[in-house]
Amino acid sequence: MNKGTSCLECGAVMEITRGPYRYGRGLDVVIHDVETRRCPECGHDEVVIPRIEELHRTIARAISRRPGRLEPGEIRFLRTYLGYSSVDFAALLGVTPETVSRWERTSKPQQMGKVAERLLRMLAQYGEPDQIYDLEAVLLTDGEARGKRPVTIAGSAGSWKVAEAC
Ligand SMILES: [Zn+2]
Repeated sequence: MNKGTSCLECGAVMEITRGPYRYGRGLDVVIHDVETRRCPECGHDEVVIPRIEELHRTIARAISRRPGRLEPGEIRFLRTYLGYSSVDFAALLGVTPETVSRWERTSKPQQMGKVAERLLRMLAQYGEPDQIYDLEAVLLTDGEARGKRPVTIAGSAGSWKVAEAC
């Protein structure tokens, strides 16, 4: 017990309080009843937030259901939650990395296009972070049709499956 409540900096016993905590940069998110530890000797403080991945999933889904347009900090949160660099996110949406920076900047941000915003909301709602959206396959749709073949389906063994070309 004492070990968990000792100051990492000076070893003094930390004071524990619980209360609402504003979470994230540029987000309008408050978490109820968060434990905050503060050292009365040196002022070092720490915030105890368990199950961070689950928390991020919960926040991402809540943000993606908020009314009104997404704000820059929300776009940034959802992008990083989904595991995209701004370069990959730009490639996924078919825009330039500069455009992504303009969506996410806090001063005079550029409004995200509606189609892109709805796609981001859907990904946040239904996707899992680190799940691989096949970015290379997505990018191929931008390119030439080289190697494009008919979609071939086979119905053997009682279920429809994508098959090798006949
Ligand atoms: Zn201390």
